[in-house]
Amino acid sequence: MSNAVVENGVAEAMGAEAIGETADPIKPMRAFKLRVSAVAQLTPHFRRITFQGEDLALFGSNADGLTLDLRIKVMIPSPGHALPELSNINGSLQDDWYQGWLAVDENQRGVMRTYTVRALRPAVPGCPAELDIDFVLHPDGGSGPAAEWAAAARPGDPLMLVGPCARWGDCLGIEYAPGQAERVLLVGDETAVPAIAAILETLPPHVGGHAVLEVPSAEDFLDLSVPPNVEVHWVARGSRPHGDGLDGKVRTLVAPAACDRGEEPEDVDIDAAILWETPAAGTSVGAGHGLYAWIAGEAATIRELRRYLVRDVGMDRNAVAFMGYWRKGKALPA
Ligand SMILES: Cc1cc2nc3c(=O)[nH]c(=O)nc-3n(C[C@H](O)[C@H](O)[C@H](O)COP(=O)(O)OP(=O)(O)OC[C@H]3O[C@@H](n4cnc5c(N)ncnc54)[C@H](O)[C@@H]3O)c2cc1C
Repeated sequence: MSNAVVENGVAEAMGAEAIGETADPIKPMRAFKLRVSAVAQLTPHFRRITFQGEDLALFGSNADGLTLDLRIKVMIPSPGHALPELSNINGSLQDDWYQGWLAVDENQRGVMRTYTVRALRPAVPGCPAELDIDFVLHPDGGSGPAAEWAAAARPGDPLMLVGPCARWGDCLGIEYAPGQAERVLLVGDETAVPAIAAILETLPPHVGGHAVLEVPSAEDFLDLSVPPNVEVHWVARGSRPHGDGLDGKVRTLVAPAACDRGEEPEDVDIDAAILWETPAAGTSVGAGHGLYAWIAGEAATIRELRRYLVRDVGMDRNAVAFMGYWRKGKALPA
């Protein structure tokens, strides 16, 4: 059987035939031109935007059909300009799409930001496929193009996402990898709540542990689906500095080691580089403390938690992912 036959078979199974796909080079990422189908203000600072579009049939997920902490690119159009045209063949992004987008005049190309797929619902009879993103409306009065777009979004608005192609073997953009760990520690500020909420929904009942979530106010606490052995700790920030509550709660849940502390982790200049330290694919986790930790949010907060967990607690670095999702005072470079 030739590759072309296999590819066409997969494309057909994914509904590609229905959207006019032809045999084309398969690439890991696709551009998805979607429209807002619903907007729900979940809390003062969480705004859920639901998207529909016929090529969502080709949106990727992992082998179990889950999206977990899947990150995608949201292409916010420049006011008064159409969605950007990214280098693609039938939606499959070519290797030079990013350079091509950067080459467009910056007043016209819009901005690119990273978000999490909160939920992906395949089409069922009578209901088209849908994708949800939970946008945080910046709490401190400051704003950025993505938060502003979300605050003003209305049903019918167009938006382009860059995400994984279901026809590619791997789903790129998922970091959560607990292996066989039976205890988890999930820690994040409001920007990581969508990922943690999606992860919690998928945990098997035998997995125990804690999720610590810091949000701007108690009104932002969400009703999450949580497995029986995991305890969720919401922390309302109020007027405290960002991350203080998260840091304090983690220190009460995970005690420093009496001996066998770890080494001081290498410093990361969080104003010049992204703090992103995740275990290499395939490394074993759950050894040592029998714990897998997933930690994301504002970079300075994550840097402090990394110091504490690596140096003072002595956590196995193969069992913890540290991810600076944004940096206070800095717009993320496109
Ligand atoms: C893998 C990954 C997944 C993410 N998932 C989500 C998600 O699902 N939902 C979500 O809302 N965010 C998510 N984020 C964070 C999001 O990308 C940033 O908050 C982003 O900066 C927002 O873009 P913007 O255009 O609104 O602001 P920018 O133009 O990037 O920044 C403008 C100003 O706003 C500040 N700022 C940025 N974010 C915040 C914030 N949350 N609170 C207060 N000030 C802020 C910046 O420091 C800067 O001063 C994720 C980030 C990563 C890396």
